[in-house]
Amino acid sequence: MRTQEHVKLSSAAALIALPWLKTDVWIPLAASIFIDVDHYLWHAVVHRTLSLKAALRYFGQADPPQLPEARLLHHPLVLGLLLLLAVRTHSRLLALILVGFLFHVSLDVFHVKQMGYLKRTLSEQAKNVCPQCEQQFAALQLHTVYYAPLFDRYNPQHFVMLCPACHERAHQI
Ligand SMILES: [Zn+2]
Ligand SMILES: [Zn+2]
Repeated sequence: MRTQEHVKLSSAAALIALPWLKTDVWIPLAASIFIDVDHYLWHAVVHRTLSLKAALRYFGQADPPQLPEARLLHHPLVLGLLLLLAVRTHSRLLALILVGFLFHVSLDVFHVKQMGYLKRTLSEQAKNVCPQCEQQFAALQLHTVYYAPLFDRYNPQHFVMLCPACHERAHQI
């Protein structure tokens, strides 16, 4: 799920939680957005650059590698550790950060599930032929043509299966 979608959904959730959390509402909101800083840190270490632009370019590729080591803060072990720490220290701050992290990770899990389903069904329909270059490929990639609002986000009409080369080209336009 794209960062701007996370920002929108987290803001909506924060608005709902506002009557209960009051001024503390910004803590889970910020946590649910800044959890993705792990992608940047991983990129900075592995590619030896602090450039945010380079990191955005890397993760903005047509089919960026989904490496678990680039998602350290999203890891169940880290989340579990944070929970343990929050309980042990009775820290409201840590608990609220954890709420933000969990909200973000839940959205990611939902997103990956939906995209996996789309990929399977659209791959079957395409019969491994890229609609752009009309050549046969062992595997096609799922490309989002239109980022619809959430209620229509996973409508198969907004997606197309492309070969790696055509997919890369689609992202360069
Ligand atoms: Zn193609
Ligand atoms: Zn794409």
